[in-house]
Amino acid sequence: MTADDDIKIRCAELGVILAGARRGVAFTGAGISTECGIPDFRSPGGLWTRNRPIDFETFLTRRDMRDEAWRRRFAMEESFGGAQPGRGHRALARLVSENRFAGIVTQNIDGLHQAAGVPPDKLVELHGNTTYATCLACQARYEIGWVRLYFDASGGSAPDCQACDGPIKTATVSFGQPMPKEAMERARALTHGCDVFLVLGSSLVVWPAAGFPAAAKQRGATLVIVNREPTEFDAVADLVIHADIGDVLELSMGLHGN
Ligand code: NAD
Repeated sequence: MTADDDIKIRCAELGVILAGARRGVAFTGAGISTECGIPDFRSPGGLWTRNRPIDFETFLTRRDMRDEAWRRRFAMEESFGGAQPGRGHRALARLVSENRFAGIVTQNIDGLHQAAGVPPDKLVELHGNTTYATCLACQARYEIGWVRLYFDASGGSAPDCQACDGPIKTATVSFGQPMPKEAMERARALTHGCDVFLVLGSSLVVWPAAGFPAAAKQRGATLVIVNREPTEFDAVADLVIHADIGDVLELSMGLHGN
């Protein structure tokens, strides 16, 4: 049997699993957005190899790194600001709208699940999103456009809160930053209640997010992992497909040309 035949058989198996799903949950990582032109962290040449993330403590304590964090945010806007949902986002939006999937738990901050039409009550953003900013001290909200004006006018300095002088940061969760309580609770409830848990494009090394697949499996869900590279959780999954997410979902769901 060729590698292609093996993948086709696995996609057919996934098709049967998805057709039978009633309370499925998708768990997505950066890999679902690579076909949209947004690099992931850990693939060869990914963001990790070029720009090591700025952790929360560094952001809080070093003004120069706050400036750098905002410089990267605006550079990202220029490169990926026009990104559109890919085949994976569209396939998941369909599974949600057909009530086969109860929701999507994403580690991504790019807003592409919403752009594909997934309603907010069906989406959990574990790591927040980058479409607005907040003061870390008093939680005041700031729009990105306002931060940009300040940043450009000041020659590249990160702004402080107008009310309390606290540091202003995108509404994303950095390494070392506490996870958002409500998002974690919603993700847990979805994970504990699902019949199928479908991991798409995550290296499953970022905790606590990486704990969800095993938790779903322990509670009896069928665990499926679709990723180009092996993950540590492959051994406990019911079905593993090492291939491109868009190709796999198209084949499994008969969505060619979608
Ligand atoms: P990761 O970079 O650690 O892993 C991504 C995985 O996806 C890799 O194992 C890679 O082999 C696989 N992959 C890439 N493209 C694929 C494709 N087309 N088909 C199948 N597999 C593919 O990403 P992570 O596990 O999500 O963790 C990184 C952290 O950084 C997360 O918090 C994530 O939210 C954040 N991040 C987000 C974005 C985004 O919002 N788009 C981009 C980069 C990083």
